[in-house]
Amino acid sequence: MLTTSTIAMLARALREQLPNFQCFSCFGKYLGISEPEVRGAAQALVFRQRFRAEQRVCCVCQRVDDTLVPHEGSGYAAVDVATGSEMHSD
Ligand SMILES: [Zn+2]
Repeated sequence: MLTTSTIAMLARALREQLPNFQCFSCFGKYLGISEPEVRGAAQALVFRQRFRAEQRVCCVCQRVDDTLVPHEGSGYAAVDVATGSEMHSD
């Protein structure tokens, strides 16, 4: 069963392993969940545009398979305090 905690767990694990990549099968073993659960969580992350699906070499089993890579810029486009451009919110 796909839950938001599964999705969050996958997102965190994907970022932690960078610049390496694991296929969904190996991620399932790594996270202790089934491969369909990994794929379901991965689809949710792609839908939310946090990650995009790509084929990469798995760092565990060495096969070329589907995995997720973070969207560049997503999650990093918050207010830049150094510029001071968004200081006034009233
Ligand atoms: Zn693998």
